[in-house]
Amino acid sequence: MKIYIGCDLGGTNLRAAIVDVETGVVLEQAKLPTLAHEGHDAVMRRMADLFLRVIHAAGMSPADIGGVGIGVPGVLDLEKGETLFLPNLPGTWPHVPLRDTIFQLTGLPTWLLNDVRSITNGEWRFGAGRGVDTLAVFAIGTGIGGGLIINNQLHLGIGGTGGELGHTMIDFNGPRCGCGNYGCLEAYASGPAIAAMGIKAVTQGLTTRISDLCEHDLNRITPELIATAARQGDEIATEVYALAGYYIGIAAANVCASLGPRRIIIAGGVAQASDLLLEPIRRTLLQRVHIMPVETVEVVAAELGDAAGVIGVACWAASAT
Ligand SMILES: [Zn+2]
Repeated sequence: MKIYIGCDLGGTNLRAAIVDVETGVVLEQAKLPTLAHEGHDAVMRRMADLFLRVIHAAGMSPADIGGVGIGVPGVLDLEKGETLFLPNLPGTWPHVPLRDTIFQLTGLPTWLLNDVRSITNGEWRFGAGRGVDTLAVFAIGTGIGGGLIINNQLHLGIGGTGGELGHTMIDFNGPRCGCGNYGCLEAYASGPAIAAMGIKAVTQGLTTRISDLCEHDLNRITPELIATAARQGDEIATEVYALAGYYIGIAAANVCASLGPRRIIIAGGVAQASDLLLEPIRRTLLQRVHIMPVETVEVVAAELGDAAGVIGVACWAASAT
């Protein structure tokens, strides 16, 4: 069987794709609003409906499908097939038997995986990590997720919790992170942290294009707006991305020393500004890593965009079958 469904359970949308796991090609896809405030039972029913609908849209029947992989934004118990903590969904989903419920509703064997581990698997199989035996992914968005491929295997660790690169500390006295720890990379270089650097520059009264582009409305300052200012040659905006890249580079330096990766892949929403981030990350690695041949470590942008997760988790389901 080579056709699987990959699903992305997002805070805003549910996405499902019919994926040929031998080629990584998405044959059909569909999405629905998650409507997470309706509770997990309603969301799981909507997911099951979406799967049956996308199978039908592809002109297939459930018998043609090898199984379902669901990429989940949070902490899972992979052995029990339960969600433990989904910070971006109301109710946080403690001990919800997602895997078995979807199986009961659809008859399709189902596997779960963290959403950024799903992206990691997708980029490794068919994207920016093809053919690389050891790599790390930093997914920069509302938070910072991560994933590791070690010796040609997606690294899981205890219950699939390995690879949380956004919660490695870059300053042990640093600010509080959403996870409860202090000084995590996520507190310095996530989308909101990048936006906050732009807001600070404007409120300090620095001369920057960011003020003009946001029309003096601080709420309009986003990582994309700061990237636009940087591409227009604005010095402050360029510094914001240089600093974010420096922070990511420090975390990546620790990964280099730990794992000896051949490639570091930058994914996630903020990766659209990878033209501004990659050089500062490379520069930091060269400055701060001396224990391994860091000049051979490639730092690249992800290639599959928002299809990486559904492709990766479909392949995960196929490899687990
Ligand atoms: Zn943290």
